[in-house]
Amino acid sequence: MKDLRERLAAQGVHTLIAQFTDLHGVARGKFVPLAHLDDLLTDGVGFSGPSIAGSGLPRCGPRSEYWGRGAASTATALPWLPGYARVVCDGFVAGEPFDACPRQVLRRQVARLAAQGWHLRTGVEPEFFLLRQSNGRWLPADDADRLDKPSYDLKSLPRQRGFLQGLQQALEGCGLDVLQIDHEDARGQYEVNFGHDEVLASADHLMLFKMAAHALAEAQGMVFSMMPKPFANQPGSGMHFHVSLWNGPVHDRHGNARNLCVPHHPDGAVDSRGLLSPLGRQFAAGVLAHSAGLCALAAPTVNSYKRLTVGTSLSGTTWAPAYIAQGPNNRTALVRTLHGRIEWRLPDASANPYLASAGLIAAGLDGIARQLELPAAVDDDLFALRLDQVRERGIALLPQHLGEALDALAADPVLCGALGETLTAQFIALKRDEHVQHARHVSDWELDRYATMF
Ligand code: GLU
Ligand code: MG
Ligand code: MG
Repeated sequence: MKDLRERLAAQGVHTLIAQFTDLHGVARGKFVPLAHLDDLLTDGVGFSGPSIAGSGLPRCGPRSEYWGRGAASTATALPWLPGYARVVCDGFVAGEPFDACPRQVLRRQVARLAAQGWHLRTGVEPEFFLLRQSNGRWLPADDADRLDKPSYDLKSLPRQRGFLQGLQQALEGCGLDVLQIDHEDARGQYEVNFGHDEVLASADHLMLFKMAAHALAEAQGMVFSMMPKPFANQPGSGMHFHVSLWNGPVHDRHGNARNLCVPHHPDGAVDSRGLLSPLGRQFAAGVLAHSAGLCALAAPTVNSYKRLTVGTSLSGTTWAPAYIAQGPNNRTALVRTLHGRIEWRLPDASANPYLASAGLIAAGLDGIARQLELPAAVDDDLFALRLDQVRERGIALLPQHLGEALDALAADPVLCGALGETLTAQFIALKRDEHVQHARHVSDWELDRYATMF
């Protein structure tokens, strides 16, 4: 600890940010002077449990205090906040790991993998909007960003370089592997791709990315938004996970870790049907089998279901999945199979990365335990098919709203078991309330359409 304190002091750090993640995937925390690093790493720092969204902790008594205990390996000086370093905390209550802390939930699934000698790697691809408000309306921050299909637009992208370059440098300064940054398919929408890493580290990094992006956008008078679908007639923001299962850690000392999803063809040839090993196929089959319940974790807001729509009337496609299907390099499917990995296209940018990852592992491990077979590969452009044609192929729809996803989650013992009793109850209660509030809300669209109609 002395070494760590000295290293941080040498970097000019005077204050730690003890950060944890609430049920909604929002970063929370406290400032802790560097002099108290030892306390943070041993007992942790205390928070009022009931003030933390979804903690389920009582308002008084010995189990009301939430302790955030810092993980030393996560201490990182923040380039955009000179003098401050983030330390990721795990939740503890009454000296025990808190079962409903999202990071503890993911740790439990990581431990199940470790018991088999396995590691899951994820490469996360958050999409997001840069917005501003004008006369109460939300607009893309860049006025000139007006192309109809702006994917990869190199006129708009450099106009946001003040933000994007700052973000890239900040994240690289924290040791994150930024692979690519592009303009996405909606006005004011961008994407950052991260290199694959251990699933827990990827979730920690995603939270750091959100903290940096919020701060840097605000400094430029913009709003960084991870809302899944801010504009009805534009594509929404996904947060795809590239997923592979390994028999060793990313930072394996001997570099011997092997990707267990890579198929072994005797002659070394790889055809598009043989992209995944049997283990990889079973893992992917588990992810597909639990898709309905996973929706509640990976697409957890009422707005999420405006991204996952069927039969869109948009001129182009939104590239968001609507059906439970997989196919080789098929970007219209929920699971896009690639050589030695899958791209899980279900999650959106509002997903809590710890809970989505924990659900992913539980589903994948169930696929392996039950030796599930991957459903037939789909080569069709699913966005071009009518609903009846999709049904003819035996392909099921994703839940159409949050309420349906919550029902599926509640009926899925594998996912509920992974979340644990407290978190399952909290999550379903909070999210059910969100769904009911939304379902009862009478929108301007409804008034405009029906008020004078009948
Ligand atoms: N924006 C799309 C989504 O909501 C994804 C676009 C892409 O393939 O990068 O998932
Ligand atoms: Mg994208
Ligand atoms: Mg992608």
